[in-house]
Amino acid sequence: MSGTAGTAELESWIRAFAEAISAHAEELTRLDSAIGDADHGANMARGMTAVVAKLDEGPQDGTAPGVLLKQVGMTLVSTVGGASGPLYGTFFLRMATAMGDRTELGAAGFAEAFRAGIGGIVARGKAEAGDKTMFDALAPAADALDAALAAGDELGAALRAASRAADAGRDATTPLLARKGRASYLGERSVGHQDPGATSAALLVAAAADVLA
Ligand code: ADP
Ligand code: MG
Repeated sequence: MSGTAGTAELESWIRAFAEAISAHAEELTRLDSAIGDADHGANMARGMTAVVAKLDEGPQDGTAPGVLLKQVGMTLVSTVGGASGPLYGTFFLRMATAMGDRTELGAAGFAEAFRAGIGGIVARGKAEAGDKTMFDALAPAADALDAALAAGDELGAALRAASRAADAGRDATTPLLARKGRASYLGERSVGHQDPGATSAALLVAAAADVLA
């Protein structure tokens, strides 16, 4: 793929994310056991397993990318009980809305939809930079994606830059004091632990870089 994404590519992205979640579920739960309630891996695995089951049900050919991501978002909202279900669900629903009924997205269209998805997370959870949440991995990724595309990179290279930025954002959550979600109840005791949601969010961007490149 040289810079556009259609339904098949986005389906591969979602499937790659599901595989990454399954491979990292124990790690995500271990991270959440330090500053939460030890369920982030299980929550995400349950949600993504349901998403993949839906994808397996029917041929997605002929389905617009936006329709596909809307289904992903609705499945996450309805199958994940924790905070992360509605947040990731809203991310995909907002991405879907931004895509409208287009059948192919160029690099700029993907970047725009990605940023709209993050806007959905913020609308829902009110996180700001440095609150120690998934936003701290996703926002730098969106910035890096836009910067790389503005500099003339193709979507693949731009997503690899975004993935590096997401990883750096995830790592930078460790010294932060949590100000949103369950981890915020711990106050100072949240310092020194990597945020589970930022960790799964970095996997989402890495999956995009792997598959859409
Ligand atoms: P719960 O906290 O309900 O157990 P999870 O463990 O599945 O849900 O997800 C926790 C993750 O959700 C956190 O690590 C954080 O990244 C993210 N999160 C929590 N609250 C918010 C929020 N208001 N905005 C953005 N992300 C949030
Ligand atoms: Mg939890």
